[in-house]
Amino acid sequence: MAADTAAPACIFCEIIAGRAPAYRVYEDDATVAFLDIFPFTRGHLLVVPRRHVDRITDLDPSEYPGFLATVAEMCRRVDRLSRHYNVALNQGALAGQIVFHLHLHLIPRYGETNPFLAPHRERLTDMEAAAVLRDLHAGSAG
Ligand code: 5GP
Ligand code: ZN
Repeated sequence: MAADTAAPACIFCEIIAGRAPAYRVYEDDATVAFLDIFPFTRGHLLVVPRRHVDRITDLDPSEYPGFLATVAEMCRRVDRLSRHYNVALNQGALAGQIVFHLHLHLIPRYGETNPFLAPHRERLTDMEAAAVLRDLHAGSAG
């Protein structure tokens, strides 16, 4: 049956296409940034290319500048929350990748002990997301 053989939908492609909800921080022709739904810390966001690729090595070199420009712009936004952050890429299941659409994590740090080892991550609430988006955009036009 078709339903059994169809490739599983990519949740990030669904978000990019607007078919799945997400708290968007930024978007342009080539990239989208949105809040992680199970944030390690306040303001944890993901930067993705609109084009579905699994691995960073699948990007065309012509896509590097646009992708990096969005990462840098998101770092500027995160500076409003904290000047300390991790930029992370989990590449491959054994490295912890669970969504196979390329994404860089931007994880603000506030002095907490290793947040990556937390046994439980709370799902982002609408209220918290609205407050985070307000802080990320504070003082900017977009
Ligand atoms: P990975 O381990 O693949 O590098 O990270 C995937 C990230 O995507 C995780 O931090 C997870 O919380 C996040 N994530 C998974 N599904 C969704 C979703 O539907 N919406 C959002 N905003 N984030 C998601
Ligand atoms: Zn995808």
